[in-house]
Amino acid sequence: MRQSQLFTKILKESPKDEISANAKLLERAGFIFKTMSGVYDYLPLGWRVLSKINQIIREEINAIGGQELHLSAFQSKDLWEKTGRWQTLADIMYQFKDQSGHDVGLATTHEEAVTDIAKRFIRSYKDLPVFVYQIQTKFRDEPRARSGLIRGKEFLMKDLYSFHQDEKDLDLFYKKVVKAYLKIFKRLGLSIFVTEASGGIFSKEPSHEFQALTLSGEDTIFYCQKCQYAQNREIATMKEGGQCPKCSGKVFQSRAIEVGNIFKLGTRFSEAIGLNFISKDGQARPAIMGSYGIGPGRAMGTIVEVSSDERGIIWPESVAPYGIHLIFLFRESVKKTRLKKLAEKIYQDLQKKNIEVLYDDREDKSAGEKFADADLIGAPLRIVVSDKTMAKDSVEIKKRNSKKIEVVKISRFNQIKK
Ligand code: ATP
Ligand code: MG
Repeated sequence: MRQSQLFTKILKESPKDEISANAKLLERAGFIFKTMSGVYDYLPLGWRVLSKINQIIREEINAIGGQELHLSAFQSKDLWEKTGRWQTLADIMYQFKDQSGHDVGLATTHEEAVTDIAKRFIRSYKDLPVFVYQIQTKFRDEPRARSGLIRGKEFLMKDLYSFHQDEKDLDLFYKKVVKAYLKIFKRLGLSIFVTEASGGIFSKEPSHEFQALTLSGEDTIFYCQKCQYAQNREIATMKEGGQCPKCSGKVFQSRAIEVGNIFKLGTRFSEAIGLNFISKDGQARPAIMGSYGIGPGRAMGTIVEVSSDERGIIWPESVAPYGIHLIFLFRESVKKTRLKKLAEKIYQDLQKKNIEVLYDDREDKSAGEKFADADLIGAPLRIVVSDKTMAKDSVEIKKRNSKKIEVVKISRFNQIKK
């Protein structure tokens, strides 16, 4: 991508109305645009990052047998009344009447909808287990939408639902999901504590939250460095400086962001909606369910919160909008035509190798401005070509997360890159 043609431009200053680091950096660098409080558009750079996050999630959920589908955001009041959530979630659920007088709600989550669909297809124990998921937009009238992508009123959720014939089978799958989630977050460059938390509105059993430690987090967790056991403050029996109940290690306390949350639902939804199957012994039984969420947008915001410095974002390779930011210093050039030709060739060569490059071909920007913009956007690798490097048939290579600049011969550099 030629930066001169990029839809967005870097803003001189961070937006004044944002408090959170993720919103400031992402808006300034042109990844996202704020439509209103808690509502963000993803612009080309941001959409690339979000799509990569979604793809990583998709791969790992497919690997444990998830089947992707896509459910509507519109929900009927009748269905949600069966579980009582039309009333209990009324504060955060956008509810309205359409022109024909029907009560409609925008989905805050999809347990009701997916259970109602499963009712049509699950008849016998032979139809179980099944796992379906989507990466879809949720709506919640969040009162505290001040954390950029971390808490939106309209946001993406990966929500996975599982249906089982007994608790044992649910437990088995639940453990698989924990492993898949840990793989996902590792690939996203996030280090995570699997944290026991309240089952919330769903169940008496604890749920498990996937918490990333950071000062800016809204949650507080207690965790053991030794065995990794962790509890959300809301249900904690541990305290800072105390002993871990599992291994007697020392307990620490930290703020954290919940990027994922998984629940054993039991028969809460299948009973209310009437999702029964015929068991092996010929009895009609409600299906046992689990639900498993990740916020891809929140994950993106969290990556920025935990991985940035005073100059900008530091993307992990796996989700960076571009792997390489290629910079040409035309403005200072005395041999502009030759330099331009060389620049163009390197850009084309990298593209031929399917390497994703953001090519800073802008001729009206100084070296200082270009370097500052590159640091803000945060691609993992910066390559500079200038009169100075051209004289040595070389380029300068620098990793975003390191100060070291390497001078590499163009011929050698071409070989390195596949
Ligand atoms: P929180 O306690 O932070 O409000 P939650 O427990 O209500 O979140 P869940 O219903 O468990 O959230 O949703 C599953 C996942 O969806 C969360 O772990 C989070 O990653 C994401 N998510 C939830 N609410 C939001 C939001 N308002 N904006 C962005 N992502 C969200
Ligand atoms: Mg949660």
